[in-house]
Amino acid sequence: MDNIYYPRGTVVTDIKEDTPTIKTFHFELDEPLTYKAGQFMQLTVPGIGEAPFTPSSCPGEVREMEITVLQTGRVTDALHNEIKVGDRLGLRGPFGKGYPMERFAGKEILIVGGGVGLAPLRSLIYALFDRIDDFKKISICYGAKTPHDLCFRDEFDEWTKKPNTSLNLTIDNPHPDWDGTVGLVTCLLEKERIDVDIKNSYVVSCGPEVMLKFVTLKLMDVGFKANQIYLSMNRRMSCGIGKCARCNIGPYYLCKDGPDMCYEDIKDYPNVFE
Ligand SMILES: Cc1cc2nc3c(=O)[nH]c(=O)nc-3n(C[C@H](O)[C@H](O)[C@H](O)COP(=O)(O)OP(=O)(O)OC[C@H]3O[C@@H](n4cnc5c(N)ncnc54)[C@H](O)[C@@H]3O)c2cc1C
Repeated sequence: MDNIYYPRGTVVTDIKEDTPTIKTFHFELDEPLTYKAGQFMQLTVPGIGEAPFTPSSCPGEVREMEITVLQTGRVTDALHNEIKVGDRLGLRGPFGKGYPMERFAGKEILIVGGGVGLAPLRSLIYALFDRIDDFKKISICYGAKTPHDLCFRDEFDEWTKKPNTSLNLTIDNPHPDWDGTVGLVTCLLEKERIDVDIKNSYVVSCGPEVMLKFVTLKLMDVGFKANQIYLSMNRRMSCGIGKCARCNIGPYYLCKDGPDMCYEDIKDYPNVFE
């Protein structure tokens, strides 16, 4: 049996600066692997450590993968400052369940992202675009601190050209380079703003935990039910297989049962939003 703690080899083939603090790393894998939208990988930087990231690229059986990384600490500093094209890194996974795409079929999908939270969602967005006729509508709401902190800006035009797809953006505070909406991402979810058939929709959200909390409250306020809301609970994880017990909410291990959890399943446990 394969040792699940042993990373597979991968080589960095491209590094793109998305924002001043976010880079997308393109990898070529030594062996192909199959992952679903929402599943995550443990990425090893040799000599530094490993950290969990959800690929931002199109899921499926792949030989290449993209991971979009916000610089925040030891592993991510090394990725941003030391890793160059041609370097070899390690990858374990995929871990987690991935989004319930079959449950989403036939519905409207509302995607709510904050900051680097759009990276894991980009993988879902590509998966939705891949079978776009299966979904009634795709509405993307995305917020970042400043216009320069919005990831994947060069793809937005392409996204909005897809049938039945909308993209609404906001930034936290007024900025000289921005004439769009200003306010936290929850402002895009106000009843008079969201153009969504609430009863026939699922919502998927990824971003900082505090954002997830207020997005959830706003969604419930405008009429969504807890069983329509999926939250990316991207908190500290280690083993990836439900053994080390670092990431549990009630009986759920986020690494194994998530990381994307239906709010209905977790809402009654005390540590949902830490
Ligand atoms: C399933 C999953 C998917 C993720 N996907 C992405 C992704 O696509 N892109 C991305 O940039 N990040 C993602 N993250 C967050 C990423 O794993 C952390 O930023 C990373 O582990 C930090 O490692 P570090 O060694 O650089 O930071 P450390 O030196 O360990 O910590 C530096 C700072 O980051 C904070 N931090 C550490 N881990 C997390 C975490 N899991 N969530 C929030 N803050 C954290 C610490 O509290 C500390 O303040 C994901 C996390 C999970 C669990």
